Amino acid sequence: MSDSLTLKDSSSDARCVIIGASHAGSQLAVNLRKHGWAGEIVLIGAEAELPYHRPPLSKTVMAGSKTLDNILLRPQAMYASNDVSLRLATAVQSIMPEHKQIKLADGETLAYDKLALCTGARPIKLPLGDGLEGVCYLRSYADVETIRQQLPGKQRAVVIGAGYIGLEAAAVMTQLGVQVTVLERADRVLQRVTGEQVSQYFTDLHRAHGVDIVCGADVIGINGQHAVDSVSCADGTSYPADIVIVGIGVIPETTLAQDAGLRIENGVFVDAHCRTSDADVYAAGDCASYPDTRYQRRVRLESVQNANDQARIAAINICGGDDVYDVTPWFWSDQFDIKLQSVGLSDGFDQSQLDGSLDPADPAGFVIQYFRDGKLIAADCVRRPKDFMALKAKI
Ligand code: NAP
Repeated sequence: MSDSLTLKDSSSDARCVIIGASHAGSQLAVNLRKHGWAGEIVLIGAEAELPYHRPPLSKTVMAGSKTLDNILLRPQAMYASNDVSLRLATAVQSIMPEHKQIKLADGETLAYDKLALCTGARPIKLPLGDGLEGVCYLRSYADVETIRQQLPGKQRAVVIGAGYIGLEAAAVMTQLGVQVTVLERADRVLQRVTGEQVSQYFTDLHRAHGVDIVCGADVIGINGQHAVDSVSCADGTSYPADIVIVGIGVIPETTLAQDAGLRIENGVFVDAHCRTSDADVYAAGDCASYPDTRYQRRVRLESVQNANDQARIAAINICGGDDVYDVTPWFWSDQFDIKLQSVGLSDGFDQSQLDGSLDPADPAGFVIQYFRDGKLIAADCVRRPKDFMALKAKI
């Protein structure tokens, strides 16, 4: 990290506009101030709520043990004390890089000296069950409020997609007494994020709690009159449902960047300094793809760690620094009483090494290390927080 920054771009009348007020946007705003941005900081968010932690949404918030107040990223006073102008419930319509301006949906234009895109990602929608009561997606606090309003009295849920969202939601609903079926298109759960052994572990964990896990499911219908009553698959199977939660992945929110002519490559293209194809525009978080030196390819990560760390580097560089984003990615997921902690990217591994037990009932837990060409590239840990910390440092 740069110790002393040349604040060549940060005079007191310069303005940095940040579009997107979630993990990356909020982090970027406070880090700008920390690293010496003397001018105005405007943080624009489409949602009405103060920036909040997203991971608890599919866990404690859905379970009802935490509310919005418990999950705010920062208290409102912190934005004020950092002199950050928060513009919430505000949609940006376009970016005009040639004029260094953005246009808001209400027609207002806002000039910038530096712009940061922290626009995140939006859920992929199924072209099924549109308008039916009880068909829910889970990305925002408002989404979870809707789910919580729908849940009371519901007995049978179908979850479509067995990624983190689907499995975490399945675990919460099971704990609330709902009978849950999970329909996953791939041949195993969590296949986008981990290896077969961990997929089997979480399948066994869910089944031990009574969740019906169906892989290789080709969903062709979400049915009902006004409210959903079933989900049907191409093989003729049908699953009764009073509520359906769809968690089939996200797509990076790149529309503004694309319309502005910025380079797009599986997200907003940034260099190792988090700078887009326009030198005065930066991007960070779920929306940005960057050159990863460790894995020697372009990567776009959907994780809190990435949003926070990239935003910090972007802020330093906006303030005139010259830092490179070079951080080992890590993730976690809570399902029932189990926390999965993952570090690194395991896809493409050619060898793995298990230490411990893959029986969910065994309190010993496990560590699986993943290697490629003999080099440790990633690890998954359950009930092994110390091993996780050691492997995080090692990778
Ligand atoms: P995800 O991790 O991409 O998983 C979606 C799953 O749904 C994939 O296995 C996908 O299989 C499957 N799928 C896709 N289309 C389907 C269909 N038509 N029918 C049945 N299954 C289908 O995405 P997610 O779980 O929705 O999560 C969204 C984002 O939130 C991700 O970025 C995730 O990392 C993040 N999140 C993270 C956490 C955490 O870190 N603990 C918790 C919640 C959410 P295919 O690969 O075959 O398409």
